[in-house]
Amino acid sequence: MKKILIATRNIGKLKEIKAAFSELHAEILCLTDFENLPDAVEDGSTFEENARIKAKFFNKLTGLACLADDSGLEVAALHGAPGVKSARFAGYHADDATNNEKLLAELKKIGVTESPADYRCALVFIDADTEISADGKIDGTIKTFPKGNGGFGYDPYFYITDTKTMAELTPAEKDAISHRGEALRKILPKLKEILK
Ligand code: IMP
Repeated sequence: MKKILIATRNIGKLKEIKAAFSELHAEILCLTDFENLPDAVEDGSTFEENARIKAKFFNKLTGLACLADDSGLEVAALHGAPGVKSARFAGYHADDATNNEKLLAELKKIGVTESPADYRCALVFIDADTEISADGKIDGTIKTFPKGNGGFGYDPYFYITDTKTMAELTPAEKDAISHRGEALRKILPKLKEILK
Protein backbone atom coordinates (compact mmCIF):
# COMPACT_ATOMS: atom_id res chain seq x y z
CA MET A 1 0.00 0.00 0.00
CA LYS A 2 1.27 3.51 -0.83
CA LYS A 3 2.61 5.43 2.17
CA ILE A 4 1.82 9.13 2.57
CA LEU A 5 3.71 11.15 5.16
CA ILE A 6 1.68 14.00 6.65
CA ALA A 7 4.35 16.61 7.48
CA THR A 8 3.08 17.60 10.91
CA ARG A 9 3.46 16.95 14.62
CA ASN A 10 0.19 18.78 15.34
CA ILE A 11 -2.27 16.16 16.64
CA GLY A 12 -5.29 18.39 15.90
CA LYS A 13 -4.37 18.82 12.24
CA LEU A 14 -3.43 15.17 11.88
CA LYS A 15 -6.80 13.94 13.21
CA GLU A 16 -8.67 16.14 10.74
CA ILE A 17 -6.51 15.09 7.78
CA LYS A 18 -6.66 11.39 8.71
CA ALA A 19 -10.46 11.49 8.96
CA ALA A 20 -10.70 13.06 5.49
CA PHE A 21 -8.24 10.52 4.03
CA SER A 22 -9.97 7.45 5.53
CA GLU A 23 -11.26 6.50 2.07
CA LEU A 24 -7.81 6.79 0.43
CA HIS A 25 -6.06 3.51 -0.26
CA ALA A 26 -2.88 4.58 1.54
CA GLU A 27 -1.00 4.15 4.79
CA ILE A 28 -0.93 7.51 6.58
CA LEU A 29 2.19 8.37 8.59
CA CYS A 30 3.20 11.53 10.43
CA LEU A 31 6.48 13.04 11.61
CA THR A 32 6.26 11.45 15.06
CA ASP A 33 6.41 8.00 13.41
CA PHE A 34 10.09 8.77 12.71
CA GLU A 35 12.88 9.31 15.21
CA ASN A 36 14.98 12.47 15.17
CA LEU A 37 13.53 14.19 12.09
CA PRO A 38 14.65 17.84 12.07
CA ASP A 39 12.15 20.66 11.59
CA ALA A 40 11.81 22.40 8.23
CA VAL A 41 12.65 26.11 8.19
CA GLU A 42 9.28 27.73 7.51
CA ASP A 43 10.52 31.06 6.21
CA GLY A 44 7.95 31.56 3.45
CA SER A 45 5.72 34.62 3.49
CA THR A 46 2.51 32.78 2.56
CA PHE A 47 0.77 29.63 3.77
CA GLU A 48 1.30 28.04 0.35
CA GLU A 49 5.05 28.78 0.33
CA ASN A 50 5.44 27.25 3.78
CA ALA A 51 3.39 24.17 2.87
CA ARG A 52 5.61 23.67 -0.20
CA ILE A 53 8.79 24.12 1.89
CA LYS A 54 7.62 21.43 4.35
CA ALA A 55 6.40 18.98 1.69
CA LYS A 56 9.67 19.28 -0.30
CA PHE A 57 11.86 19.03 2.80
CA PHE A 58 10.28 15.88 4.23
CA ASN A 59 9.85 14.25 0.80
CA LYS A 60 13.58 14.66 0.21
CA LEU A 61 14.50 13.50 3.70
CA THR A 62 12.34 10.35 3.78
CA GLY A 63 11.77 9.55 0.10
CA LEU A 64 8.05 9.24 0.89
CA ALA A 65 5.13 10.95 -0.79
CA CYS A 66 4.49 13.89 1.47
CA LEU A 67 1.49 16.12 2.21
CA ALA A 68 2.04 19.35 4.16
CA ASP A 69 -0.61 21.62 5.66
CA ASP A 70 0.26 25.19 6.48
CA SER A 71 -2.54 27.09 8.09
CA GLY A 72 -3.36 29.85 10.49
CA LEU A 73 -5.50 32.64 11.79
CA GLU A 74 -5.63 36.17 10.36
CA VAL A 75 -7.20 38.83 12.60
CA ALA A 76 -8.23 42.07 10.88
CA ALA A 77 -7.66 44.24 13.98
CA LEU A 78 -4.10 42.86 14.16
CA HIS A 79 -3.47 43.59 10.46
CA GLY A 80 -3.58 39.88 9.57
CA ALA A 81 -1.50 38.59 12.49
CA PRO A 82 -0.71 35.96 13.62
CA GLY A 83 -0.91 34.69 9.99
CA VAL A 84 1.97 32.41 8.99
CA LYS A 85 3.29 32.76 12.56
CA SER A 86 0.10 31.25 14.09
CA ALA A 87 1.85 28.18 15.55
CA ARG A 88 4.60 30.26 17.19
CA PHE A 89 2.71 33.47 18.00
CA ALA A 90 3.82 33.29 21.64
CA GLY A 91 7.41 32.28 20.81
CA TYR A 92 9.42 29.22 19.87
CA HIS A 93 8.00 26.98 22.64
CA ALA A 94 4.44 28.23 22.21
CA ASP A 95 1.44 25.94 22.58
CA ASP A 96 -2.29 26.53 22.08
CA ALA A 97 -2.73 27.99 25.59
CA THR A 98 0.15 30.49 25.34
CA ASN A 99 -0.79 31.46 21.78
CA ASN A 100 -4.35 32.20 22.91
CA GLU A 101 -3.04 34.26 25.86
CA LYS A 102 -0.89 36.25 23.43
CA LEU A 103 -3.91 36.78 21.12
CA LEU A 104 -5.96 38.15 24.03
CA ALA A 105 -3.05 40.35 25.17
CA GLU A 106 -2.58 41.82 21.67
CA LEU A 107 -6.30 42.62 21.39
CA LYS A 108 -6.35 44.12 24.90
CA LYS A 109 -3.40 46.38 24.00
CA ILE A 110 -5.47 48.03 21.26
CA GLY A 111 -8.74 47.98 23.24
CA VAL A 112 -10.53 45.53 20.92
CA THR A 113 -12.89 42.80 22.18
CA GLU A 114 -13.94 41.44 18.80
CA SER A 115 -12.65 41.56 15.24
CA PRO A 116 -13.36 40.00 11.86
CA ALA A 117 -10.93 37.15 11.25
CA ASP A 118 -10.36 34.19 8.99
CA TYR A 119 -8.63 30.85 8.99
CA ARG A 120 -6.65 29.82 5.91
CA CYS A 121 -5.19 26.47 4.95
CA ALA A 122 -2.79 25.55 2.15
CA LEU A 123 -2.08 21.92 1.30
CA VAL A 124 0.84 20.81 -0.88
CA PHE A 125 1.46 17.18 -1.87
CA ILE A 126 4.82 16.18 -3.38
CA ASP A 127 5.85 12.77 -4.68
CA ALA A 128 8.83 12.47 -7.07
CA ASP A 129 8.02 15.00 -9.82
CA THR A 130 4.33 15.28 -8.98
CA GLU A 131 3.15 18.34 -7.08
CA ILE A 132 -0.46 19.24 -6.32
CA SER A 133 -1.93 21.86 -4.06
CA ALA A 134 -5.23 23.19 -2.73
CA ASP A 135 -6.41 25.85 -0.36
CA GLY A 136 -9.36 26.76 1.84
CA LYS A 137 -10.64 29.68 3.90
CA ILE A 138 -13.36 30.40 6.42
CA ASP A 139 -14.44 33.82 7.65
CA GLY A 140 -15.49 34.42 11.22
CA THR A 141 -15.04 36.67 14.22
CA ILE A 142 -12.49 36.56 17.00
CA LYS A 143 -14.01 37.37 20.38
CA THR A 144 -12.22 37.46 23.72
CA PHE A 145 -14.68 35.07 25.44
CA PRO A 146 -13.73 31.39 24.84
CA LYS A 147 -16.37 28.68 24.31
CA GLY A 148 -16.20 24.94 23.64
CA ASN A 149 -13.70 22.11 24.07
CA GLY A 150 -13.44 20.72 20.54
CA GLY A 151 -11.01 21.42 17.73
CA PHE A 152 -7.61 22.86 18.63
CA GLY A 153 -5.56 26.07 18.46
CA TYR A 154 -7.60 29.26 18.37
CA ASP A 155 -10.95 27.44 17.90
CA PRO A 156 -12.50 28.44 21.30
CA TYR A 157 -12.12 32.12 20.29
CA PHE A 158 -13.15 31.76 16.62
CA TYR A 159 -16.88 32.48 16.29
CA ILE A 160 -18.55 31.05 13.19
CA THR A 161 -21.88 32.70 14.17
CA ASP A 162 -22.65 35.37 16.73
CA THR A 163 -22.86 32.78 19.52
CA LYS A 164 -21.08 29.62 18.35
CA THR A 165 -17.35 28.90 18.17
CA MET A 166 -15.45 26.43 16.03
CA ALA A 167 -14.63 24.57 19.28
CA GLU A 168 -18.34 23.81 19.81
CA LEU A 169 -18.61 21.81 16.57
CA THR A 170 -18.29 18.05 16.22
CA PRO A 171 -15.30 16.95 14.10
CA ALA A 172 -17.66 16.28 11.17
CA GLU A 173 -19.35 19.68 11.52
CA LYS A 174 -15.96 21.43 11.63
CA ASP A 175 -14.76 19.50 8.58
CA ALA A 176 -17.88 20.51 6.62
CA ILE A 177 -17.17 24.24 6.92
CA SER A 178 -13.52 24.70 7.86
CA HIS A 179 -10.57 26.03 5.86
CA ARG A 180 -8.89 22.60 6.15
CA GLY A 181 -12.07 20.73 5.20
CA GLU A 182 -12.40 22.84 2.05
CA ALA A 183 -8.75 22.30 1.06
CA LEU A 184 -8.98 18.56 1.78
CA ARG A 185 -12.12 18.19 -0.34
CA LYS A 186 -10.31 19.93 -3.23
CA ILE A 187 -7.17 17.79 -3.03
CA LEU A 188 -8.80 14.42 -2.31
CA PRO A 189 -10.00 13.62 -5.87
CA LYS A 190 -6.55 14.54 -7.25
CA LEU A 191 -4.87 12.22 -4.75
CA LYS A 192 -7.32 9.42 -5.58
CA GLU A 193 -6.40 9.81 -9.25
CA ILE A 194 -2.67 9.63 -8.45
CA LEU A 195 -3.09 6.56 -6.23
CA LYS A 196 -5.25 4.68 -8.74
P1 IMP B 1 1.53 25.58 11.04
O1 IMP B 1 1.73 24.26 11.76
O2 IMP B 1 2.77 26.36 10.87
O3 IMP B 1 0.72 25.39 9.79
O4 IMP B 1 0.61 26.47 12.03
C1 IMP B 1 -0.69 26.08 12.29
C2 IMP B 1 -1.24 26.89 13.47
O5 IMP B 1 -2.34 27.68 13.02
C3 IMP B 1 -1.78 25.98 14.56
O6 IMP B 1 -0.80 25.67 15.52
C4 IMP B 1 -2.90 26.85 15.15
O7 IMP B 1 -2.36 27.78 16.05
C5 IMP B 1 -3.41 27.60 13.92
N1 IMP B 1 -4.49 26.82 13.25
C6 IMP B 1 -4.45 26.24 12.03
N2 IMP B 1 -5.59 25.60 11.76
C7 IMP B 1 -6.37 25.76 12.86
C8 IMP B 1 -7.67 25.30 13.18
O8 IMP B 1 -8.33 24.56 12.43
N3 IMP B 1 -8.13 25.68 14.38
C9 IMP B 1 -7.42 26.47 15.24
N4 IMP B 1 -6.19 26.90 15.01
C10 IMP B 1 -5.66 26.56 13.80
